[in-house]
Amino acid sequence: MVSYKELGLVNTREMFAKAINGGYAIPAFNFNNMEQLQAIIKASAETKSPVILQVSKGARNYANQTLLRYMAQGAVEYAKELGWEHPQICLHLDHGDTFELCKSCVDFGFSSVMIDGSSLPYEENIALTKKVVEYAHQYDVTVEAELGVLAGVEDDVQAEESHYTKPEEVIDFATRTGCDSLAISIGTSHGAYKFKPEQCTRDPKTGKLVPPPLAFDVLDAIMEKLPGFPIVLHGSSSVPQEYVDIINTYGGKMPDAVGIPEEQLRKAAKSAVCKINIDSDSRLAFTAAVRKVFAEKPGEFDPRKYCGPARDEMTKLYKHKIIEVLGSNGKAE
Ligand SMILES: [Zn+2]
Repeated sequence: MVSYKELGLVNTREMFAKAINGGYAIPAFNFNNMEQLQAIIKASAETKSPVILQVSKGARNYANQTLLRYMAQGAVEYAKELGWEHPQICLHLDHGDTFELCKSCVDFGFSSVMIDGSSLPYEENIALTKKVVEYAHQYDVTVEAELGVLAGVEDDVQAEESHYTKPEEVIDFATRTGCDSLAISIGTSHGAYKFKPEQCTRDPKTGKLVPPPLAFDVLDAIMEKLPGFPIVLHGSSSVPQEYVDIINTYGGKMPDAVGIPEEQLRKAAKSAVCKINIDSDSRLAFTAAVRKVFAEKPGEFDPRKYCGPARDEMTKLYKHKIIEVLGSNGKAE
């Protein structure tokens, strides 16, 4: 048993309370390799933004859970070395799907876990979530639950259709499970293809897809039922078209990739939405930078020469999200 407190990590409780009161959101960035983690920590340290490092089941399988935990521990020390005196870094399990997986993360030094029972029948989601909460709270680990279904593909999580969260269920769900935050479905989705072309309109000038707006009426109804309760948005990458264009220019093939416009996320960040998950955008930044190096310098074979530019591009992206979209800069001095 390793407590996250020994690793210098924090849970989400205080982070979220401050974010709701302050009208901003905490970035939750997924990581599964060193360059990504360096970029996240550098961007957070330079902007003094609290940050949630997310590890999915797929990332655990890819990078090894022991190594990931030591990387997170190293991240705290790296942050201090960068001059961030009191780093507020949370290590969070993204989309845990069983009690055993969540327990193993709690026992392994995670400061927060998500139990995603959203694909289960309502009562089963409650029972599973409650079981995880009861275990995690013994160790002061915070728990995110999910109600409603997001469409799209994210590692092992896949759903064809989305189902908006039903506002009439949230009080009962939050009360009976005791969860600390709730991921909801209001039209975001996982991956780099968040909407089918037929769900969008097309900008006549650029030919690019214009996605439909998020269901802010559903968010408002949920906030009315649960005033001050921390809400989480998954699948909130914006799929920057400049990255998609670079990828497509240099041999990639991502036609009609589309995300959530940043002005909608900016609006959400000001509400009770206090955690916004961004993964695909960093994958796009990485891929765009690597493809560009490969195309322009075909003789290059030192991974540092293409992973380095990829890391710089991700750092730029994370800082942009923190400062221009979430507003979490300067909130963790
Ligand atoms: Zn998700």
